[in-house]
Amino acid sequence: MIVARTVADARVALADRRDGTIGLVPTMGSLHAGHLALLETARRECDTVVMSLFVNPAQFGEPSDLNGYPRDEARDLERARDAGVDVVFVPATDELYPPGYQTWVDVIELGSMLEGEHRPGHVRGVATVCLKLFTIVRPDVAYLGQKDAQQVEVLRRMVADLHLELELSVVPTVRDTDGLALSSRNMRLSTDERARALALPRALATRDPETARAILDAAGLDVEYVAVAPFHPPVLAAAVRAGNTRLIDNVTLEEKP
Ligand code: AMP
Repeated sequence: MIVARTVADARVALADRRDGTIGLVPTMGSLHAGHLALLETARRECDTVVMSLFVNPAQFGEPSDLNGYPRDEARDLERARDAGVDVVFVPATDELYPPGYQTWVDVIELGSMLEGEHRPGHVRGVATVCLKLFTIVRPDVAYLGQKDAQQVEVLRRMVADLHLELELSVVPTVRDTDGLALSSRNMRLSTDERARALALPRALATRDPETARAILDAAGLDVEYVAVAPFHPPVLAAAVRAGNTRLIDNVTLEEKP
């Protein structure tokens, strides 16, 4: 497995692999079984699997959230190697955002609802870093989790609007046995918070926004939003806080004929 830390090194590592298909799995590390499902799918479908490992400051609001984001590069590299990744791209922050950096991608409407409304700048940060990764790696397919449904919809729009030559492949949300969607942030939950957080998948499973809100309120979770989002397919999505930990989740709804 090649570990590329600069854009130049990533390009060199991929130069002689362009005859086959290249799959990209963008991650912020702290890998769990959700990330592994993306890597496994990419490994099955592509000749070369690239994983990016970059905690993107541009998509964080509060500095405490960025600074407290779990990081363990050595463990992530080991997991990537076990998953059969060919190239890991691990840039330093100033490799992607050097001094003087000033170019951003705004997906206007999709970027201002839900996560965009509650985390100003977040969607812009996600779209920008993904466009960078797509430009550096030039994958045939990028693998994304349904867990971040808005991210999928935003990137789908960006790919269409900017005529990018890649396919997006969406992998279903991987959940713990108790129903909680796997997330790097789950490790921050106390036992009590985790017990209350289980109301999130339970609420969404009702597939009804009013009932879902009542369940989340009753569990003592701080609800940022519960809403039906007009994605493809539509989803019932929610963001809540359990203590200081922010959690998001969604379930797909039937497409109206
Ligand atoms: P992150 O490291 O949180 O930026 O996530 C990297 C990718 O893994 C994104 O495409 C996420 O949607 C996906 N992902 C995160 N958690 C899950 C999960 N529980 N199930 C499936 N995919 C996930």
